[in-house]
Amino acid sequence: MISLKKYLDSTAEARETQDRKQSRLGSQGKLPQEMGGILASTTLVAYRSALHEMGLSSLAACPAMGQGLMQDLSCVADQLERRFTGPDVESAENAVRERLQEWGSKTAGHYGEKTAEVKQLLLLLAHTADSVGERDHRCGGQMREVMTHLEAIATLDDLSEIRLSVERSAASLKDSLDRMDEEGKQATAKLRAEVDTYRARLEEAEELASRDGLTGLRNRSWVEGQIANRIDQGTIFSIAMVDIDQFKSINDTYGHLAGDDLLRQFAGELKSASRSKDLIGRWGGDEFVLVLDSGGADAESQVERLRAWVCGNYTLRGTSGAIPLKVEASIGLAQHEAGQKWEELLGKADAAMYRRKAEARTNGGAMQR
Ligand code: GH3
Ligand code: MG
Repeated sequence: MISLKKYLDSTAEARETQDRKQSRLGSQGKLPQEMGGILASTTLVAYRSALHEMGLSSLAACPAMGQGLMQDLSCVADQLERRFTGPDVESAENAVRERLQEWGSKTAGHYGEKTAEVKQLLLLLAHTADSVGERDHRCGGQMREVMTHLEAIATLDDLSEIRLSVERSAASLKDSLDRMDEEGKQATAKLRAEVDTYRARLEEAEELASRDGLTGLRNRSWVEGQIANRIDQGTIFSIAMVDIDQFKSINDTYGHLAGDDLLRQFAGELKSASRSKDLIGRWGGDEFVLVLDSGGADAESQVERLRAWVCGNYTLRGTSGAIPLKVEASIGLAQHEAGQKWEELLGKADAAMYRRKAEARTNGGAMQR
């Protein structure tokens, strides 16, 4: 560092020499005393300004460490403004030198610590990349490369070199993660499609399992489930048991295929006579069940309407041509009562159906040609 004290001393010395020369030569050409004073104070102003700039630069170079130095240099500059005798200038110079040296070593230590922290982070990142790679074997190779690279960076001391290497590793890491992300998305989409297919197949299988193979109506177990649901929900509903009269004689007379044909046609008629909210199922043999979301007179009139629709003339396909038939059926209705179990309810509807059948028998055969 240029010594201000030495500079001021040499200026004073030069001035004295000049003064001596002038006194020998006479008054003409003498360097005025005031000139020397102006020079010294101008130099001090410049020195103070330089101290101030030094403080600002240290703050810009290392904000964490610059504040203290800037304050210290300002104090020295203030002292020089108040007094600038020889010893004051010398002590100010020493203070500045000490502060600069101290700042230099503290700042170097500070950057050393920060570099060590960066290295620690890099090692952490390297181990994270390694464990991610282990989980995905296909990306494992690339991840291991990144890890080796990051570990190598930790041995560097030059921050610019570290920065360049980190940028390269980050790009490579991003590549791997993007690829894993893309592969993950594809795998998820594939799995989702498979789940959708299995769900659709399951629904199809459930639908198939809930149907009666001959008539296409719901089967007994499905209807039982629906009845149980309605009992749980406590809604108003009624059950109608429908049984074709003297069906066995149709089988006996025209064969089972004709009997099957009647069961299919009868089921179709039941379906077309029902409202969309009513449930229809085949209970078994020539017996069908209806679940009506109503009770009392409403359910009774629905049953009467249904009976009028499904009973009557049918034409069966026999082996030796069409078979015209008049078909009758007995229907027993029962409304669900609070606390009643489904077996009791069905028993009640069945009993009503058999009463009707007995009445029909009393009134003459139901099947007519
Ligand atoms: P009822 O007037 O008392 O109802 O007498 P029914 O002859 O209608 O009733 P029954 O229970 O005696 O006969 C039902 C018959 O239905 C017996 C069985 O052989 C026949 N059956 C059961 N399932 C099928 C089927 O899927 N197809 C055909 N063709 N017949 C069936
Ligand atoms: Mg019958």
